[in-house]
Amino acid sequence: MSATVSEAVAPTRTFEPTAYHVKEGDGGVALEVKNFDLWYGRSQALYDITMAFQKGLVTALIGPSGCGKSTLLRCLNRMNDLIDELRIEGEITVDGGNIYGSGVDVIALRKRMGMVFQKPNPFAMSIYDNVVYPLRVDGVSSRAVLDETCERALRSAALWNEAKDRLKESALGLSGGQQQRLCIARAVAADPEVLLMDEPCSALDPIATAKIEELIDELKGYYSIVIVTHNMQQAARVSQNTAFMYLGRLIEYGDTDTMFTRPKVSRTQDYITGRFG
Ligand code: ADP
Ligand code: MG
Repeated sequence: MSATVSEAVAPTRTFEPTAYHVKEGDGGVALEVKNFDLWYGRSQALYDITMAFQKGLVTALIGPSGCGKSTLLRCLNRMNDLIDELRIEGEITVDGGNIYGSGVDVIALRKRMGMVFQKPNPFAMSIYDNVVYPLRVDGVSSRAVLDETCERALRSAALWNEAKDRLKESALGLSGGQQQRLCIARAVAADPEVLLMDEPCSALDPIATAKIEELIDELKGYYSIVIVTHNMQQAARVSQNTAFMYLGRLIEYGDTDTMFTRPKVSRTQDYITGRFG
């Protein structure tokens, strides 16, 4: 992993597909997890995970509560670094480089791997300031660039029409669903390659959920998306690949249609048919 901050967010960058944003179907690998183990203190939470996330596709992580979905997701951009007593073994590679290797610029890595959380977390500032926040952090001050990014990111997040006349108003005045789309806009404004989403709809009503699912479908192709969900219908609707985890292990991983119609492992079958979970 050698991207510098300036490579990760070029001020003139638009949201047209870039070299990073390879279109769906190219078959490339966005991220690879190899023989990955993780311990919180003495308690092991991930066991020997090996899997590749494909570029431009949506991969769903499913499995019962506590099986390690969020833990794995947070490893992909090293969010877990902030936790004391965390120990890992194995590798996660991007473009062949181990993100846990020495000399990795973790800030630059996190810019390439945008994150959207369970509960929308807009900052207590205007809608506009929220969206352009990642650019400002990078020192971009050109009004034209900020304005253009704001509009493009809000359009990408399907929020422009609702927000364009209230850009200067507090983001906290938006509905929950709008706040979540704003958080997606803010992630997109940083021009990431990968979007990591941890149960992004679990705090939303069905209509707001449907909008986010539509949005995920539109963003697919431009970004590689990894979504944790406890909702199997959602996994079936939005993803092309699905990984089923159980007790810290990857039990089965394959294309979503096959996983939901002809799973190879009986435990996957039991879970998706609601026999446990
Ligand atoms: P999921 O997202 O699938 O519900 P998690 O990744 O949150 O599961 O949790 C996996 C396991 O790791 C659980 O046993 C959980 O209690 C434990 N765990 C998660 N986060 C921490 C933490 N910060 N410190 C200690 N244990 C944790
Ligand atoms: Mg979780």
